[in-house]
Amino acid sequence: MPRHLVCLTFDFDALSLWLARGITSPTPISQGEFGAVGAERILALLAIHSIHATWFIPGHTIETYPDLCGRIHAAGHEIGHHGYAHEAPVKLSREAEEAVLVRGNEAIRNLTGAAATGYRSPAWDLSPHSVDLLLAHGFTYDSSMMANDYMPYYVRHGDVIPLDQPAQFGETTRLIELPVSWSLDDFPHFEYLWTATHLQEGLRRAGDVLTNWLDDFRYMARTQEWGVLTLTFHPQVIGRGHRMLMLERLIEQLEGLGATFARMDAVAQEFTQRSATPDAG
Ligand SMILES: [Zn+2]
Repeated sequence: MPRHLVCLTFDFDALSLWLARGITSPTPISQGEFGAVGAERILALLAIHSIHATWFIPGHTIETYPDLCGRIHAAGHEIGHHGYAHEAPVKLSREAEEAVLVRGNEAIRNLTGAAATGYRSPAWDLSPHSVDLLLAHGFTYDSSMMANDYMPYYVRHGDVIPLDQPAQFGETTRLIELPVSWSLDDFPHFEYLWTATHLQEGLRRAGDVLTNWLDDFRYMARTQEWGVLTLTFHPQVIGRGHRMLMLERLIEQLEGLGATFARMDAVAQEFTQRSATPDAG
């Protein structure tokens, strides 16, 4: 029996998306605040379709919007780890990275009663210490890498990647990767962003992006007996009217194509049952 899963994931960064860039002036902060407006709309849409999703929420957002985050948890959604204040692990020392993992998990434990089992790096990049720290802190899966599209895989540690020699891949661990892609993320498609050194045009037609994402599902359904399509949304980005209508159409059309929506923790568990867990790690 073919089984085609879709994970709708929401990175509820709110203000922390801007704080992580050192930006605290009123207008960008208000863009982050709009995330709370978007989150309410998303919660209502998911409830209509009885979909349980995964929300990666920084500790800063949980402590700034405790009531809203409490309702996200109470609605049956998974709360994943996304740093405390959206810190990029690759810029941190091992000690600082571990402190962020602990602080973010404290906020999640206060919200849900349990530490997170899933992690998504705020930078979609991991440090040389991340995999070992995630395993040491009891995480089951990561969702920040891109070595496959529809198929989860076990993450390696200890890779040696010289600039002028063949790569030497390290050992496989028991940490599961539920891979992401920039092409399956609302942020680069839609967010208009400029800094002194960088312009991200964004502001694409939502219908074009909808076509891309439906075709990614169709290709999975055509080529895989079992697979998972992971889509990443930011409430402050997808929460605008025309994009919310696109999200609604996406859900309806995926339902029509036979998609099964699932939380990432459930998908990680299903993947484990389908595959032999490696001994290492
Ligand atoms: Zn984020």
